[in-house]
Amino acid sequence: MLDRSTIWPYEDGEPGEFYYQRYGHPAGAEVERMLGELDSGHALLFPSGSGATTSLLLTLLEPGKAVALAQDSYYGTAVLMRMLERWGLRVVPFDQAGPPPGDVDLVWLEAPSNPLLTMPDFAAAASHPAPVVCDSTAATPVYLRPLEHGADFVLHSATKFLGGHHDVLLGAVVCKTREDHERLLEFRGRSGIVAAPDPAWLLRRSLKTLAVRMERHTANATELARRLEAHPGVERVRYPGFGGLMSFDVAGGAEAARRVETSTWLIKNATSLGSVDSVLETRARWEAGRVPENLVRLSVGLEAVEELWRDLEQALNA
Ligand code: PLP
Repeated sequence: MLDRSTIWPYEDGEPGEFYYQRYGHPAGAEVERMLGELDSGHALLFPSGSGATTSLLLTLLEPGKAVALAQDSYYGTAVLMRMLERWGLRVVPFDQAGPPPGDVDLVWLEAPSNPLLTMPDFAAAASHPAPVVCDSTAATPVYLRPLEHGADFVLHSATKFLGGHHDVLLGAVVCKTREDHERLLEFRGRSGIVAAPDPAWLLRRSLKTLAVRMERHTANATELARRLEAHPGVERVRYPGFGGLMSFDVAGGAEAARRVETSTWLIKNATSLGSVDSVLETRARWEAGRVPENLVRLSVGLEAVEELWRDLEQALNA
C-alpha cells in the first residue's frame, strides 16, 4: 500500500526509520533498495534527473571548483551547469572519447550521450584523480553498471527508461561509497530536493518490467537502425547497439527533417525518451549548434516493429 504520510509517530519517544517525509519515506526507501541493487551501490531518489544533478554538484563542489563535462552530454546538464557558474562553478567541456582535462575537481560522463550516442573512455576517466559521475540514463543498469568501470556516482533520469511509461518524473544517484551516500542524503534532507511517495511508488512498479522492456527496446531499435541505414532518405544513423535511443540525419536538411517528424502517425512528435510508446523530434529546436539541423532523435518503444517501420517509411517518403 502507498503510504503518503508526512509524519510517523516516534517509537518509545524516539524517531524511528521514518518520522518526517523530507528525510525519508517507505515508498522511496523501497525503490532506493531496488536501484541500489541494480547498480551495485547506495541509491538516493530525487524529484527529477535535473534535481539529482543539482544535488550532486552542490554536495561535491564549492565556489572555484571545476567540472569537466562531456561536451555532447544532455544539453540540459550543460545549461544547468552554466547557471551554476554564477555561484562560482567552472565548467570545462571535453571530448569523452579521450582523457578528461587535468585541472578539474569532478568528471561528468554520459553513456551513451543524448542524442549523439557517443560512449566515454571509462579507463581514461577512472585514472583521473577527480571523482567520476556517469549519467547512464540511456543505457540503464541492464546494459551498463558504471560503478564497475571506475565511476564513483551513477546518475539516472528515472523519467526515461527506468520509469518507462511517460508518467513519472524522477531522478536517482547511486553512490559507490556509504560516505558519499551519507553526504548526499544530508544535503537532500536539508535542501528539500526530495521525491514524493507517488512517483516513487510508480517507479517501483516500472522496475519490475525493466529487463523485459529493455530487451524489446533493443530488438526493435536494432532492426529500425538497420533499415534506416539502408534508406536513401537517411544520411546517417547513430545507434550504440543496445537500448531504445537512436538518432538519424535526414537527407535534405532541416526542412526534410521537420517533414519527417510531423508526418508520423504512430510515433508521437514529442520530447523525452524511454517510454513503451515511441517518440521522435528534431533536436535543433532545443540545441541548435550542438547537433546537426537535420538530426531526428528517435526513442523506440515496444510497439510491433513492422508497424514502427511502416510509419517511419511513410514519413521518410512523405
Ligand atoms: N540526463 C539525461 C541523459 C537526460 O536525457 C535528461 C532529460 O532528458 C536528464 C538527465 C534530466 O532528467 P529530468 O528530465 O528527469 O530532469
